[in-house]
Amino acid sequence: MWEVGVRRSFKFLLRPTRRQAAALAQCLHDHRELYNAALEHRRTAYRRAGVRVRYGGQSGELKHIRADDPTGQGRWSFSSQQATLRRLDKAFVAFFARMRAGRTPGFPRFKGRGRFDTVEWPKDGDGCRWDSQPENPAATYVRLQGIGHVRVHQHRRVLGTVKTISVKREGARWFVVLSCDEVPAEPLPATGAVAGIDMGVASLATTSDGDHIENQRHLAASADRLAAAQRDLARKKRGSTRRRKAVARVAALHAKVRRQRLDGAHKAALTLVRGYDVIVHEDLRIANMTRSASGTIIQPGRNVAAKSGLNRSILDAGWGVFLRVLAHKAESAGRELIAVNPANTSRTCSRCGHCAKDNRLTQAEFACTACGHTEHADVNAARNILRAGLALRDAAEAA
Ligand SMILES: [Zn+2]
Repeated sequence: MWEVGVRRSFKFLLRPTRRQAAALAQCLHDHRELYNAALEHRRTAYRRAGVRVRYGGQSGELKHIRADDPTGQGRWSFSSQQATLRRLDKAFVAFFARMRAGRTPGFPRFKGRGRFDTVEWPKDGDGCRWDSQPENPAATYVRLQGIGHVRVHQHRRVLGTVKTISVKREGARWFVVLSCDEVPAEPLPATGAVAGIDMGVASLATTSDGDHIENQRHLAASADRLAAAQRDLARKKRGSTRRRKAVARVAALHAKVRRQRLDGAHKAALTLVRGYDVIVHEDLRIANMTRSASGTIIQPGRNVAAKSGLNRSILDAGWGVFLRVLAHKAESAGRELIAVNPANTSRTCSRCGHCAKDNRLTQAEFACTACGHTEHADVNAARNILRAGLALRDAAEAA
């Protein structure tokens, strides 16, 4: 099997000295100030004169800003500052695109403390250096301009070529994120097996072989707790200590839900990628459209009874995360992933092809009114999804 290079990121905990931690905080602070100053400049120009300031102009001014402030902005990497200005530019490009689309977007906002947690160096070797002390066998370091050689807790091997280096603050901890190109794919041995998967709420995914993968019980429980915490928050008085604590609790639960969702997605994707050469799934964009248009949003199973819209939206959002992780793993394992239009997959008989609304007896049970075939409804749907995917594949090969 040939090897394909993929882009991948690696994230490691940093172990800065006390002095380096202070410098990291200062670096982040100064980049945030640069972002906000550049935003202020754009706002003023736009509001006063209707002038659109562009990245090129702001990047050109950076020279002067650095020269005027050698012990402040002048300390840091020119390139990381340009990356910060480009980030602002992206926010504006998105803002104007939404305006052109006839919507009324909010103007890009100033970044408060805690709303700006990343500095990016767009090129290894330019104001930053990964593995800056290769002669040291006991530890890995990353050199960052204005901060020094910072020790990295490198818990795994870095593959491919390091392209960009970012530093990220999460709470009290600092991380380095490497984005690497040409990471060799690690193809898995062929299994000769193919599968369709039906995405649901009671099970994240059900395969055409009848396996129910990663039921989201833990996630549903956290979603319930989050909904309760939000109701609790709504009752607290603004500015009170209790409200501050309630906000912290909601934020912590959100983070927990994100972690659990990602964790579940990784496990489910790994199971599928190990087991199958070809995996067919529903095209989520089409699925969401048809579901909301026909008003037949799949009802959750009783064990995850969705008590609120929030609960539902949390479980729904899991599909997007899951598919992204699956696409990633499939690519590096050399597996084929096919997306199909999910229309009618849940009411068509996978044995005889008879399509009728009455085929679906209950949420869990499928019984064909033509041939009498009965099956778990999600498994039946997964089989239809598989068939549609293989048909698409045949058509593509014939063309
Ligand atoms: Zn049938």
